[in-house]
Amino acid sequence: MPRKQLVLLTLLIVLPALALALVSLASLRTQAEDAEREREKLAEKLARGVSEQFERLFSEVESACRAAAKGLQAAEGPANSLASPLVEAVWIMAKEGTLHLPRSPWKSSQGVQVDPKLQNALEEAEALEIRGEFPRAVVRYETLMASASQREAEAVLLNALARCRRKMGQLSDALALYGRLLMQHPATVSANGMPLAAVAALETISIESELQRPECAFQVGRDFLQKLLGGVIPASREQAAYFCAEMSALWKTEVSGGGGAREECERTLAILRNALAAEDAAEALQKLGGIDDTSHSHWTVRTLASGKMVGIGAPDSAGLRVLACLRTDALKTQCRTDIEQLLRYAGHFDYEIRDAQQAVWIAAKDGPLQPPVVRLSSARPADWGIAVSVPESPAIRSGARLRTLAAGGMILLLLLTLGASLYFLNATVRRTAELSALKTDFVSAVSHEMRTPLATIRMITEMFQLGRVTDPQMSEEYMETVNSEAERLTRLINKVLDFSRMDAGRKPDSFAVVGLGGIVRDAVKKFEMGLAEHREIRVEVEPDLPEVRVDEDAMVQALLNLLENAVKYSAAPAPIEVSLRSVGREVLLVVADEGIGIDPSQLGKIFERFYRCEDELTRKTTGTGIGLSIVKHIVEAHRGRIEVRSTPAEGSVFTIHLPLPSENGLYPTSHSQTA
Ligand code: ADP
Repeated sequence: MPRKQLVLLTLLIVLPALALALVSLASLRTQAEDAEREREKLAEKLARGVSEQFERLFSEVESACRAAAKGLQAAEGPANSLASPLVEAVWIMAKEGTLHLPRSPWKSSQGVQVDPKLQNALEEAEALEIRGEFPRAVVRYETLMASASQREAEAVLLNALARCRRKMGQLSDALALYGRLLMQHPATVSANGMPLAAVAALETISIESELQRPECAFQVGRDFLQKLLGGVIPASREQAAYFCAEMSALWKTEVSGGGGAREECERTLAILRNALAAEDAAEALQKLGGIDDTSHSHWTVRTLASGKMVGIGAPDSAGLRVLACLRTDALKTQCRTDIEQLLRYAGHFDYEIRDAQQAVWIAAKDGPLQPPVVRLSSARPADWGIAVSVPESPAIRSGARLRTLAAGGMILLLLLTLGASLYFLNATVRRTAELSALKTDFVSAVSHEMRTPLATIRMITEMFQLGRVTDPQMSEEYMETVNSEAERLTRLINKVLDFSRMDAGRKPDSFAVVGLGGIVRDAVKKFEMGLAEHREIRVEVEPDLPEVRVDEDAMVQALLNLLENAVKYSAAPAPIEVSLRSVGREVLLVVADEGIGIDPSQLGKIFERFYRCEDELTRKTTGTGIGLSIVKHIVEAHRGRIEVRSTPAEGSVFTIHLPLPSENGLYPTSHSQTA
């Protein structure tokens, strides 16, 4: 390959690879940066997950509200039953701004104005009660009752007496006293802002439950709630909420059974709760500044001062708006459960959800989230915010370490590959240059080798033409010289032809099983005759040498090449020995000389094409560097191998190993390389 193209190729490979390595090196982040990025990525993914869960929950709320609202529309009034686990009550608001609310039954309760003297005596009796001196307190209360002229004062004293009796464990006495209070006195009487009828009813329910008489407890409860709903008992809205909570807590934990009275009780309680929720809704409405605003396309959720949440839906096709009281606690619990579900798959993370006013609605932990924090704003309910952060963890750190190591390893590998390709490219360039130089040497060597015998032949023929050779002995000598020079020329041409055949990939192909002894002797004799200078070539053939399968011409050519070298690289009268013997399942053809020998460092190269040893002695002799490569090619085509042993200044021994057919008559399929 021309040098220019190689340089271009190098640049084409090296430059992009180098650029890639530099870019990778520049983008190699530190472990800490990588861990931080990983946390951010994870937080972003989780924030999206939390946001989805949250929005799903609110679509559930929305559909629960709509379903309940539909029911309400059909019934034309507030719902009697609870709408869903997430929605407490639902009202429909008409287009023109009217809210269908039941008449508000709550009243602010007035304290009883008792006689100041009696008030003092009452406080003394209460002091005894507080100290636990119940019998003395009872005596005091009874004395005061006997002298009481006011009906309200009698009611207060009845309540105090009943309370004392209950504390003393006299339950039936307490029940009788509360019964008198409920039957004989108007429900409007209050003490310290608390309606006494409510106190008596709740206490009666508690005692009846204790005595395992649920029917009685629920009958009292039903009467009490109906009075509360009818506005007969002057309770405030907060008190009504408190009574509702007390009542439901009571029958949930302590009482079982109760029959029809219980059902009525529950129904009345639901209506009461709805009435309370309606007021919450009305409060929310006031906060929103009326219902004429049609800009809400989704549900608006407001947290009221009471801690309750109210949802206001968009107007429907009939122009109605939906107003709902949400079960805040149930909603929060559900939301936490949903997020925890996510948490189970995602490992640990911290989160918080803020309402439209930026107040924290729920959070995984108190205090601010650790950065990096990913914030998203929710579409439903609008303007709410979701923030997620992933705390540092050994798993994330080790993941980052692993990634950094892998990236570093890749870059190192890239650089190593780059180095290796550069090395091989450089080696190829050098080898190509060397080969090209060797080829040039070869051409000049061949021309030189041809020119020398041709010049000799031309000179002798000219001498004959000019009639300068008259002596018959001289004439014979000249003719011998012409003959040997022609012989030399033929050998050279044969060698070059062999090489070009080998170069074209052709192999010896006329194999026959023959005895090598005769062939070798003939070839050596012919070779000797062709030599310009006489050399002693001893031939030794082992008797009964087994026959081998060879291409005769090719094998003779290989032998001649070896002989030629032996003559070239040794000086007369040093003998040359050719021997043939069998060892194991091989026949060995050995050519040994006592010439200049070969340096051990060159031994591995002499079979390469165009290679000539780089020493002084070799350079003095003419040669082409193709002889041994042809020998190797021929020997390998015979599935044999060639070995050389040599000592500088002592001589060289070249041994051709030719395989004998195996027992079954087959030749081995593989051969070992030149040693
Ligand atoms: P050349 O035409 O140079 O002889 P060869 O391929 O026949 O080419 O031999 C390669 C090289 O091996 C020679 O140049 C020579 O240096 C070395 N060589 C080959 N045979 C001998 C030998 N018998 N003694 C010493 N050196 C040898």
